[in-house]
Amino acid sequence: MKTKKILIVGGGASGLCAAIMARRKGYEVTIVDKNDTMGKKLLLTGSGRCNFFNKDMDLRYFHSTDPALISSFVDLETIKEVLPFFKSIGILPEDRDGYLYPSTLQASTLREALIYEAENLGCTFLPSFDVQKIEKKKDLFYIYSPDVVLTSDYVVIAAGSKSYPKTGSDGDSYKLASSFGHTIREVYPSLVPLKGVGSYFKRWDGVRMKASLTARTDTSILSTSNGEVQFTDYGLSGICVFNLSGEINRSLHQGKKVFIDINFLYTYGITTMEEALSFFNERAHILSKRNLRIFLEGLFPYKLVPLFIEKASLSKEQVYADLSLDEKKRLVNLLLSFTVPIQESLAFNRSQTSVGGISLLEVDSSSMESKLEKGLYILGEALDIDGDCGGYNLGFAWISALKMGKSLEEVK
Ligand SMILES: Cc1cc2nc3c(=O)[nH]c(=O)nc-3n(C[C@H](O)[C@H](O)[C@H](O)COP(=O)(O)OP(=O)(O)OC[C@H]3O[C@@H](n4cnc5c(N)ncnc54)[C@H](O)[C@@H]3O)c2cc1C
Repeated sequence: MKTKKILIVGGGASGLCAAIMARRKGYEVTIVDKNDTMGKKLLLTGSGRCNFFNKDMDLRYFHSTDPALISSFVDLETIKEVLPFFKSIGILPEDRDGYLYPSTLQASTLREALIYEAENLGCTFLPSFDVQKIEKKKDLFYIYSPDVVLTSDYVVIAAGSKSYPKTGSDGDSYKLASSFGHTIREVYPSLVPLKGVGSYFKRWDGVRMKASLTARTDTSILSTSNGEVQFTDYGLSGICVFNLSGEINRSLHQGKKVFIDINFLYTYGITTMEEALSFFNERAHILSKRNLRIFLEGLFPYKLVPLFIEKASLSKEQVYADLSLDEKKRLVNLLLSFTVPIQESLAFNRSQTSVGGISLLEVDSSSMESKLEKGLYILGEALDIDGDCGGYNLGFAWISALKMGKSLEEVK
């Protein structure tokens, strides 16, 4: 049989994995990337350690404009094939509370293993190749850079989303796919810090504390997330904020008002007014004469205490035991549900992934082949599927590439 040519646009996570899978099936594989090296973004992942997968791949960690389709794209059978794939290229996982990293805790290990395997199998790398346009004439794809035109039997769009454009992923996937008639679902930054509305953010800048966050609109709860929050001079950051950001951006772009309610007592296991009042009464019994500032400083980072006292319209010299029930409730209410109105997220250059993208409705979930153009495949973050922090976005990059590879006929 004649060797079939596959050209992969994007030598990132999904592109490199797909190249290996296709070459193992006997295809002639070329990977082009606009950067001068492959896998640039991979080096930044997991703060340089690359959280490449998770032990718990539950569907609740994934999001899409068409949530009902997620289960067919993130299927159990392919999830089970991810770690064996990495074992086959020499990567063993290090399990940190279910978050999986390469055992060296170095992103470069995983990137090098992918590149080495692809090179060793005979894939051709064409760095600094910026794909501007793809056309299909008869049965052949024509792939245009500003100075070269290549042809291929199959094309894979693995050019990422709009997040972290300095890594090369700047939205070209959408342009290339839409030239074949694909629908692009609205794209927003996700896994990104959030800007609040308020004049007090400079006062809590630099604080880190565990808290429970509830994102809501005027009328409904969007999502909750618990963990360490980073308080910044513009609002909120940290993993648990990132995990709310995609859904918040969707609501903000629908013109809704969005708020985050912070439970600062979460770290003490307190979620209700009753529990909080009893906790504080017991504390007041032990620290009977202490003023409010000292009383609260033992519980919260010192930068937060004057802010809490002021916002509850109390004075730092007051003693907790002497407060009226109304005053106690006012303070406790603030600590249980400190509301930050959200203005917007930071931009794509600070977002780890993007909400939205190429519609899942137009892609075959078993092969990742376009339903609109035979021989065109679409992988990874370019698609309208995004995950929480924890290895879910790289997880989907591998899953989509493995699906494509499995579906290819052997040409050996
Ligand atoms: C700072 C940061 C940390 C992250 N940490 C994690 C983590 O720990 N765990 C996790 O699961 N996810 C993490 N992510 C997300 C993860 O990196 C992405 O989801 C994943 O890389 C997407 O893979 P991809 O193959 O779809 O696209 P990418 O890896 O973005 O690769 C796309 C490639 O296509 C190339 N390209 C784009 N346009 C063209 C064109 N026109 N011509 C040629 N080439 C083109 C780009 O140069 C790029 O190399 C992180 C992201 C960032 C930014």
